[in-house]
Amino acid sequence: MNTPDIRARLGVRPIINVSGTMTGLGASIVVPEAIEAVSAILRQFVEIEDLQRKASEAIARLCQAEAGFVTASCSAAITLGVAGAMTGSDLAAIERLPDATGLKNEVVILAGHMVSYGAPIEQGIRLAGARVVPVGQATSARPHQLAGAINGQTAAAVYVVSHHTVPYGMLPLAEFAEIAHAKGVPVIVDAASEYDLRGFIAAGADLALYSAHKFLGGPTGGIVAGREDLVRAAFLQNMGIGRGMKVGKEGIAGTIAALEAWERRDHAAIRARETAALELWQTTLEGRAGITPAIVADPTNNPLDRLHVAVDPAAAHITAWDLADRLAAGSQPVIVRDHEIEHGYFYMDPCNLHPGEEVIVAGRLAEELDRAQESNDVIATKLSDRRARRLRSLLSWPN
Ligand SMILES: *Cc1c(COP(=O)(O)O)cnc(C)c1O
Repeated sequence: MNTPDIRARLGVRPIINVSGTMTGLGASIVVPEAIEAVSAILRQFVEIEDLQRKASEAIARLCQAEAGFVTASCSAAITLGVAGAMTGSDLAAIERLPDATGLKNEVVILAGHMVSYGAPIEQGIRLAGARVVPVGQATSARPHQLAGAINGQTAAAVYVVSHHTVPYGMLPLAEFAEIAHAKGVPVIVDAASEYDLRGFIAAGADLALYSAHKFLGGPTGGIVAGREDLVRAAFLQNMGIGRGMKVGKEGIAGTIAALEAWERRDHAAIRARETAALELWQTTLEGRAGITPAIVADPTNNPLDRLHVAVDPAAAHITAWDLADRLAAGSQPVIVRDHEIEHGYFYMDPCNLHPGEEVIVAGRLAEELDRAQESNDVIATKLSDRRARRLRSLLSWPN
């Protein structure tokens, strides 16, 4: 806490994250237990297979799974899980991938689950050499559509639990798994940012995949948990396509520590601190012209609320996206959750705050809204201009 902020030394902006656990912002605050484990293992040699065996024990206990291992990321876990479902423990086939000749190579996924988490999930599946078979329509999935998409070439069925998916018209996991299992097809659940470590396996997942660096507060990593034969087959991909997605000793030891810390964490106290931040922001915003704050539940039922901030530009004298951009500027940049901004609202996520930052955020909200009120015109950038500016910036990186 009292060490100098490394961001000044690196020359990067000291952002305050009220967006969520975003890869593009550095994921989460790593818990002290994981920081200690990462630091301690970095100076030691260790037999990685043994270390992964210890990870398997920790994952098995926390996820009530048969086995598990740590990967570079949940995205890597998707690729390795699918690859394992295709090859089993056939080492020659593992070395041949992504050439899937002679293997089952189709992976079914609901059309409404074909999300981007910063990269397309379909690509994560295709990297294994598989072919993606979409099931149903964007907003609709029926049992017969899933059953009809499965054939003798189907290696796996991928199911996504996330706020990114279409939130209605999908098949529940238990029903999805029942249909896949009736045809002998394993179910791989992408639960990257879900707090529930047990429910998906209980509902029929053969593999459940998580990010270590999201709610767990671990170092960058992924977790594969589930049926022992499928976990082993995914693990063996480290001798093949998994090599380019390698996790090091620090990722494995840090993830074990984060899992153990999760078990001991005072979840109620953390929830209370998050609620206090939300209430502070809500109080700060209430009664301000054109601003409607509301505390809302997480869309996939994680034990986490966010502040929904609706902006009426005519009364607030600023659009939701201009407010987001102004909050993100200056010497105390605050990054809000803006992926639905075209609807005129953003969210504020309290789960990645250092103590005291909630007060700075409240001050920044008041400051930018006061400034907008003083403006005679409505501050309104065209949304397409904002998008174009962001794209230009990306495509001219590193300049
Ligand atoms: C974050 C996320 C991923 C990617 O996880 P990484 O560990 O960052 O690779 C995959 N799926 C979903 C639904 C996610 O939210």
